[in-house]
Amino acid sequence: MIYLDYNATTPLDRRVLSGMLPFLKKNYANPSSLYRFSQTARRAVEEARARVAELLSASIEEIVFTSGGTEANNMALKGVAFALADKGRHIITSVIEHSALLNPCKFLEAQGFEITTLPVDRYGVIDAQELKKSIRTDTILVSVMHANNEVGTFQPIREIASICREKGVLFHTDAVQTVGKIPVNVKELGIDLLSLSAHKFYGPKGAGALYLRKGVKVTALLDGGHQEKDRRAGTENVSGIVGLGIAAQLARDEMRETEKKVRALRDALQAGIQKKIPKVTVNGHPVNRLYNTLHVCMEDVASESVIINLDFKNICASGGSACLSGSVTPSYVLRAMGLSIQEARSALRVSLGKYNTREDVEKTLKVLPIVVKNLRKLSASSLC
Ligand SMILES: *Cc1c(COP(=O)(O)O)cnc(C)c1O
Repeated sequence: MIYLDYNATTPLDRRVLSGMLPFLKKNYANPSSLYRFSQTARRAVEEARARVAELLSASIEEIVFTSGGTEANNMALKGVAFALADKGRHIITSVIEHSALLNPCKFLEAQGFEITTLPVDRYGVIDAQELKKSIRTDTILVSVMHANNEVGTFQPIREIASICREKGVLFHTDAVQTVGKIPVNVKELGIDLLSLSAHKFYGPKGAGALYLRKGVKVTALLDGGHQEKDRRAGTENVSGIVGLGIAAQLARDEMRETEKKVRALRDALQAGIQKKIPKVTVNGHPVNRLYNTLHVCMEDVASESVIINLDFKNICASGGSACLSGSVTPSYVLRAMGLSIQEARSALRVSLGKYNTREDVEKTLKVLPIVVKNLRKLSASSLC
């Protein structure tokens, strides 16, 4: 099998798994217990916190463990909204955010908060100056993602963060697609809150964190025990947290190498597709884009047909659309970038990672052009 869907999730690094196993077997103690047996678990959680903090250049107290990116986003959005509701009820975000950000915004809108959703240009980038103009006296939070999961485009978060700081507004970024892939320094970037998720960088599913800058107050979403300094109740997912910590350490140590390797594979795949398949356009920013992501539209083919045909050849890739009760809705990200419904329906996302090889790229470049050619023949010979 050739796995080309690393933006959806990544395989667990075997070194992460070996670090996790003792906490699923012999070290099963609750980290909050008093006896010495629980010390190993407690220390492991704190060591993982130090590793995550180090990956972000944050302090240890600024890391709150969550069940993943979705919870971190919910905690940032709702936590700030509930904490600052007396100060203001206006939040600014962008149209190309992940559903794990847009849906908490919808929830808050129903609770009486006002959401301004900024548009993007054809590369999927928001205009920082337009963002600046939309900040009001009652704005409490700006949330703009670091890199988009579909097309890979980066947002100018450094510039946005500095605007927010100047205006005295909190800035959150969903960095689930960048943490572990590229250096992310929260201090240097000027970020107040940041979401990350272990399973997007070779860690386990169900583990993530919210970076909360010292001094930023959020209302906890879960009421219960006093774990995570009262910021996230519930017995810690010890093995998951340990896995996240090791994944963070490995990412820090191997980031450069991984980027070099994966970028070369992605570039080869892109060049090959552009050479071998006519009528292809590459989406997202040509340069300011994740090094592992390739997103294309291929005229006259439906993305789900391409995905299914690739699947028959044991290649896992993703379309630009979500299947909702049988009907295929074209991606709102692509629509926001100005692509037509027709174009958006022909999208293919290929996202690579550290376990991909030259052979994977070569095989994909053999299979995909044939798949597209056959589908185009079919669509030309049918009326629907
Ligand atoms: C995957 C992803 C999420 C959700 O993270 P989970 O850990 O799966 O909940 C949020 N935002 C972005 C940009 C993502 O790619």
